[in-house]
Amino acid sequence: MPPLAVVGGSGAYDLLAREYAGGRNLGPRETPFGPSAPIRELEVDGSPILFLSRHGETGYHRTARFVNYRANVYAMRDLGATRVLAWSGPGAIDPSLQIGQYVVPDDLLDETRHREDTYFTGGSVGFVRQSPVFCPSLRAAALAACGNTGTSTRDGATYACTEGPRLETPAEIRKLGIIGGQLVGMTLAPEVFLAKELCMCYAAICYVTNYAEGLSEKPFVPGVLFEGLLDEDEMAQVNAAVAGFVDIVRGVAASEPGHCHCAHLLDRYKRRGTIGEDWRQWIGR
Ligand SMILES: [Zn+2]
Repeated sequence: MPPLAVVGGSGAYDLLAREYAGGRNLGPRETPFGPSAPIRELEVDGSPILFLSRHGETGYHRTARFVNYRANVYAMRDLGATRVLAWSGPGAIDPSLQIGQYVVPDDLLDETRHREDTYFTGGSVGFVRQSPVFCPSLRAAALAACGNTGTSTRDGATYACTEGPRLETPAEIRKLGIIGGQLVGMTLAPEVFLAKELCMCYAAICYVTNYAEGLSEKPFVPGVLFEGLLDEDEMAQVNAAVAGFVDIVRGVAASEPGHCHCAHLLDRYKRRGTIGEDWRQWIGR
């Protein structure tokens, strides 16, 4: 089976590495877009995994706005991955979501402004359908794996992806809520769109980290994560959710790829002869 690519923070990788020693450090990979983030290769109960540390391997080295998404997705595909599982901790706009809950989003609002968001810069390819945004088959595997941890899991939510690195204003959160955003984070776009351009399956598992600005009155606390946007009890709930990561990866990695259309998203362009079978030749078309 091709490796499952997992994109997350370095803390998540440490959890995996603690349980599955002997991983291979592939380092940053060279791509036509420059070097990717560091990638590690390891085996989880017989299933090959590629782990890409989106923000670098030394904590939050590179904020979401400055991640080289094109290089990262290219590198994962180049190493043979056809499925990408993203792991991220966004805020909640929907007050019915709970801190520490798992959410498998099913739609996305792209509010980013300054990111390179396509491989098809030549102008002849590009009408890639975005419904469903996330691969239904990989989503089902993610939901099953989250459910097996016993942690509350929500099936479906709209993730609003903002530019950052600053957090959102209260008015921006109100606006995003009005237009349907339930989660707010900075990482899934354009990652999911780029994965689709390379005909990969992509799904995300979000653990709710905090309530977005304006949803609850939280005093300013200097020197801590988000300056007090989440309190100590909430932090404990977040840590409990993060602890389920290894079991979730194990579950998704063991799942068989189901039926989906991801591999056929560009068939029209192949039939037309605009692009060939080798995806490396698609870049810039
Ligand atoms: Zn798929």
